[in-house]
Amino acid sequence: MVAALSEAGLLARIFPRLAMDAGHSAATVLGPGDDAAIVSAPDARTVISIDTQVQDQDFRLSWPNGYCSTGFDVGWKAAAQNLSDINAMGARATSMVVSLTLPPHTPVAWVEQLADGLTAAIRELGASSCSVAGGDLGRGREISVTVAVLGTLDGGNAVLRSGASPGDVLALAGTAGHAAAGLALLESTHHVGQLTPQQRSLLDLQCRPVPPLAAGPAARAAGATAMLDVSDGLLRDGNRIALASGVCVDLDPASLDLLAAALEPAADLLGTDARTWLLGGGEDHGLLATFPPDVQLPPGFTAIGSVQALGIDEGPRVTIAGRAADTGGWDHFAD
Ligand SMILES: [Mg+2]
Repeated sequence: MVAALSEAGLLARIFPRLAMDAGHSAATVLGPGDDAAIVSAPDARTVISIDTQVQDQDFRLSWPNGYCSTGFDVGWKAAAQNLSDINAMGARATSMVVSLTLPPHTPVAWVEQLADGLTAAIRELGASSCSVAGGDLGRGREISVTVAVLGTLDGGNAVLRSGASPGDVLALAGTAGHAAAGLALLESTHHVGQLTPQQRSLLDLQCRPVPPLAAGPAARAAGATAMLDVSDGLLRDGNRIALASGVCVDLDPASLDLLAAALEPAADLLGTDARTWLLGGGEDHGLLATFPPDVQLPPGFTAIGSVQALGIDEGPRVTIAGRAADTGGWDHFAD
């Protein structure tokens, strides 16, 4: 357990596992060892985001279906969520700082796995220019993992939520609703050992999300007008673009049907509606973006709707084929 080690002793176990090796990142001028790290910012601007995961709020160590979240899972997810927010600006992550709060009885191996998960997410998700520049260790009653990530726009302009115009194409990169289906499986009585490979892949995406990190900078380069990562579901995040841009975001029911098809087997198992996960489920961290109609969508993006002007007396909103999304608009067109 971590209580058996000094802070220096625990850091000595973690450091070799973090993506902080010399020469790994061009951004880290001075890594751990002094009171603060130094990172370069050739662009003269820094994109920055921070996110905290708290045990039993944002993750559980054991689930009703028998699955136990590993330190690797928690480290991966902490990195992936933060990398996704940099991606959603059209930027590229350059460095990270990590703050860990650990109960004294936490196994040292669990903390080592967490470091491995952080590093694996950075490397396997393709954020190869990002490294861990430093961090902090503390004790507390439950596990808490805070990651702050810095990124660069490489001289370009950020893609905000506010730039969508009527006539733009609405497009999605990555999956939607899969992590929500995975969460429902974790919270179900269907034992993890009896899931099909397809169901297991949904569970894995909840525990170790795979945001499409190449797609953010590609969308910026292609001229995306608005973008965010889907962390709270297509409806809520689509509504954020609608509100910020003062437009109507209209989803195409045929595209939604195609996206929902991958969720149907799990929905059948749990006796629920795949569309609930697709429209309301976040945590896949796909990218929802709008593009001018004459732009060829960058690799990874699929058109799923369009941006429309507001009618007289209409507020910004999300619709499905012109119908209010929260009043069964999709049902109406599903037949
Ligand atoms: Mg976000």
